[in-house]
Amino acid sequence: MRVLLIEDDVEIAEGVRQLLERRKFAVHVAHDGDEGFAALTHDRFDVAIVDIGLPKRDGFTVARQARAAGIQTPMLMLTARDAVEDRVRGLDAGADDYLIKPFVEEELHARLRALLRRTPAPVRERYVVGDLVIDCGGRTLEIAGKPVKLAATEFRVLEYLAANAGIVLSRDQILDCVWGTSFDGSRNVVEVYVSAIRRKLRAINAADRLVTVWGIGYKLTA
Ligand code: CA
Repeated sequence: MRVLLIEDDVEIAEGVRQLLERRKFAVHVAHDGDEGFAALTHDRFDVAIVDIGLPKRDGFTVARQARAAGIQTPMLMLTARDAVEDRVRGLDAGADDYLIKPFVEEELHARLRALLRRTPAPVRERYVVGDLVIDCGGRTLEIAGKPVKLAATEFRVLEYLAANAGIVLSRDQILDCVWGTSFDGSRNVVEVYVSAIRRKLRAINAADRLVTVWGIGYKLTA
């Protein structure tokens, strides 16, 4: 699940990022309203967490303009404890729910789960990452027009990386998504599959698309 977090307070942003990553969300942080709006409109997220007080464009404006642009991403707005009118304004602007700061991890997680239940994420049929095209229906991968043959599990690993293109995913996140949380085999399995995919990419000089971030995980880049 991909979360867009639009929050200018670096400390809060980092705290929320860490707690969501522990819950296996892939988190993209935008530090002001312009950056957040650009991310919302150019990329796909399963849910967005939007602070109200933001530089450049406040959270109300981000929500209103995103809805006006047809963006359906569920939005959770962060409001201050004493600002009741902000909650109403946030919902009027197009937010789906609000959360009062400061909040505890359990509450944030519960609200996100509720939002994700309410609006199932649309299933993407195709991912385009630079010249890399992943057709999920046809289960095919093409890079610069050249087809690459992948085994079913390799394809699922790549699909998950493509759904989170540009974001580093940990081995555990990949393991949970592709093999399921009940998997109790060797955790090396992720490395094995990533190397297998990379070998196939290397054959067409595209191995650099699948980046290893030492000590953290992997990401797919254009
Ligand atoms: Ca703020």
